[in-house]
Amino acid sequence: MAFSGETVEKAWRQAGGKCKCRRKRHDHNYGVCNKALVFANRGREGRGSWEAHHMSASGGDGLGNCEILCWNCHVGTGTFGG
Ligand SMILES: [Zn+2]
Ligand SMILES: [Zn+2]
Repeated sequence: MAFSGETVEKAWRQAGGKCKCRRKRHDHNYGVCNKALVFANRGREGRGSWEAHHMSASGGDGLGNCEILCWNCHVGTGTFGG
């Protein structure tokens, strides 16, 4: 599965270019990650890197299943590449 570029851009705009992860077992305990991301650095190492994450593995490639996560949070979900 992969999101279309259009879906990713919409999700990015909704997120305001920030990681909105609220997963409690991550380092941003009990809060929102809110890490500022850099659009050009999708899927890369370094400052502001991020990935478009499938919230549910069976949820498809629609906007409702697309979550913008910083790289640390994306890896921390345990579903790397998903
Ligand atoms: Zn994050
Ligand atoms: Zn997180």
